[in-house]
Amino acid sequence: MINDIKTIGVLTSGGDAPGMNAAVRAVTRAAIVNNIRVKAIFRGYKGLMDGEIQEFTTQDVSGIIHRGGTILRSARSEEFKTIEGRRRAYETMQREQIDALVVIGGDGTFTGARALAHEFDVPTIGIPATIDNDLWGTDATIGFDTALNTVMECVDKLRDTGTSHERLFLVEVMGRDAGFLTLNAAIAAGAEAAIIPERQAVAEQIDAAINQGQRKHKNSSIVLVQEHAIEGGAMAIAKQIEETHPEFSPRVSILGHLQRGGSPSGFDRILASRMGCAAVTALIEDQRNVMVGLQNGEIVYVPLIKAIKQKKDVKEDKWQALQVLSI
Ligand code: ATP
Repeated sequence: MINDIKTIGVLTSGGDAPGMNAAVRAVTRAAIVNNIRVKAIFRGYKGLMDGEIQEFTTQDVSGIIHRGGTILRSARSEEFKTIEGRRRAYETMQREQIDALVVIGGDGTFTGARALAHEFDVPTIGIPATIDNDLWGTDATIGFDTALNTVMECVDKLRDTGTSHERLFLVEVMGRDAGFLTLNAAIAAGAEAAIIPERQAVAEQIDAAINQGQRKHKNSSIVLVQEHAIEGGAMAIAKQIEETHPEFSPRVSILGHLQRGGSPSGFDRILASRMGCAAVTALIEDQRNVMVGLQNGEIVYVPLIKAIKQKKDVKEDKWQALQVLSI
């Protein structure tokens, strides 16, 4: 079905994630192929309010599929959380003759998009891009696979030194409120344990981690700690272990922002390319206020409200696998 969308705006917002550029490239090229103009909006919603906008040609997205970060830049904006801010954003859209928006980001980005869509009747499509993988309705978000590989490689390196010195290493992993990155990285790196917010009390998880590692006469152990599993993160857990198990002197590694960087993995490039094309298809087919998702290998469309409000849980079989495999 043909509708009257002639120009779409595309922006990246919230935390940057590897593969965002591949998504921008895909949205731009898929739109142009369908005779839709593309206006790139720089610095997320801030740029939308301030009019930091440039029309993109296919050449503007050349040579970016392999680059981490986002060429559109990302920004967080408090003003956009107010109706006045969103009105400014809408006025820019009218001035620039932008008929629809594709927003690439996480749940905050989608919350903002949904508010704008409802208040000003703007067709909006969300593309999930966050290393946290915490959005309901999609098995994977853009950037998660790359970040997972980054964490895994870091843990592999730490294991080399951990084994040499017979140490307990606590590795702090990002994830906002979600333990997906931590749990998956723990399995992939063969860690002894993961401490994540979705499972039992942290004190119990610490005990289990100690029992699964050093107590079983392993000469070193690695425990991955989700950054917000406990206030103070891995440092706070190290302190607790020193108090309750004075025989250990755990070493802490906080991986920090390096988890967000780097060239996107093949998986993330393909995911971003598929999702970018699917976002344009959704607009052409007159879908509104949906997130593009991936379920069982297939592209799906999920209402933005569900993606934001529903809670995705970590898979129990993965949690169990980690317990079993760390004996
Ligand atoms: P990540 O998960 O990687 O942090 P995110 O999209 O959740 O990504 P946020 O910083 O939470 O990142 O949100 C990005 C932007 O979306 C905010 O700076 C703000 O402009 C807008 N936003 C967030 N929450 C709301 C809200 N409740 N209402 C309107 N706009 C919002």
